[in-house]
Amino acid sequence: MQQADIIMTCICDYAGQVRGKGVLLSDLEKRKRRGVGLAPTNLMITAFGQIVETPWGPRGELLIMPAAETEVRVAFDGERPDERFILGSLHELDGAPWSCCPRSWLARGLEALEAEFGLRLNAAFEHEFHYSGAEPRLGDAYSLDSMRLQGSFAQSVVHALQVNDIEPEMVLPEYGPQQFEVTCAPAVGIKAADRAVALREIVRAVARAHGRKATFSPVMGFGLVGNGVHIHYSLQDSHGRPVTYDAARPCAMSEAAARFTAGILDAMPSFVALTAPSAISYERLQPNRWSASYNNLADKDREAGVRICPLPSVGGADPAKGFNMEYRAADAAASPYLALGALVWAGLDGLRRGLELPEPTSGDPGEMSEEARRKAGLRRLPASLEAALDEFEKDPRIEQWMGREFRDAYLMHKRSELRLLADIDPEEQVRRYAEVY
Ligand code: GLU
Ligand code: MG
Repeated sequence: MQQADIIMTCICDYAGQVRGKGVLLSDLEKRKRRGVGLAPTNLMITAFGQIVETPWGPRGELLIMPAAETEVRVAFDGERPDERFILGSLHELDGAPWSCCPRSWLARGLEALEAEFGLRLNAAFEHEFHYSGAEPRLGDAYSLDSMRLQGSFAQSVVHALQVNDIEPEMVLPEYGPQQFEVTCAPAVGIKAADRAVALREIVRAVARAHGRKATFSPVMGFGLVGNGVHIHYSLQDSHGRPVTYDAARPCAMSEAAARFTAGILDAMPSFVALTAPSAISYERLQPNRWSASYNNLADKDREAGVRICPLPSVGGADPAKGFNMEYRAADAAASPYLALGALVWAGLDGLRRGLELPEPTSGDPGEMSEEARRKAGLRRLPASLEAALDEFEKDPRIEQWMGREFRDAYLMHKRSELRLLADIDPEEQVRRYAEVY
């Protein structure tokens, strides 16, 4: 049978899910100007597909305004129709950005960063996930044989990322059974988050085309390493020149990068509900899981809240160009817009208040005395989503950054997700999250 070309116009919602509506490809240009209608309550669809509670009920109307630069096409050589989707922001009917739209929220933070401090954010998301098509083998962590046993999936993923201008850099078998990681080059501004959304969907699309599933759920089982999303960031001036490195300052961080990072560390326990937003995310954010469990800064330490990444000098590498920090307490249950938005708004807060960079830790903060941690401003990240949402609600900065309506809607959404899981045993929760992410 003949087939029409359809393109899905999508948003990445509060649950980090990509949802939207299919339109005729031939109508796309018109849709970019006029948008595609959506009910505000669609944002209250939980990860599990149910709406439990909503501030907006059946009322209201928004428009998904597709952003031209986010169009993705994954071609399957005629085996099945090409997958096409495009991402967008949510706008009011008169074109004004909707105050509760995650993508517009990130855009507002980035605009403030440039307007107030002449700075731009350069960022890259590193994604870990499980691929069901990989044949597990005892001891397959990082092994060349794991790469063989996954077949042609990784090669197809990298190709699909390349043709969609996502600039893949690395694909590797990770530590866990059937666990892989894909990294891509950093991008400035909102493009970094657009890339993260597209990358996850491209990986999922390629896995589906192989009759398999790629799962980005934060944990696949208890006591196992999780699937992290590590967000690397650095700053540029408004001419695109890197301004993160300053050899003369502590941790070689420029004053701007130090203040930005201090803001992130300071607010991390309050905003982690945005970056690690599932009920099982906190199983990953435990000590000794190579993730993050404190709001600490540390040099080349893969259990730091924010890791100062290494500065190799071999081969004539320019430290000013490559120097970056890595935020480690994120996972793929988070919308990349909300996760990056949290870093930008917290970083801005650090710049506005001229916060000082704390001393980096050298070792496990869990082994320091409580008194030493208190002096160093170190706090254990919340141990559950419930606790993280309480911290999020308590900190008045979150409301300043998001506005009350948006903050309250997010809280309602996430507490609804917890209600759906209230009587479900932990193993089954892990299984359900694996199904939806
Ligand atoms: N899987 C670890 C996490 O949950 C990260 C391992 C690594 O450093 O790549 O974040
Ligand atoms: Mg990794």
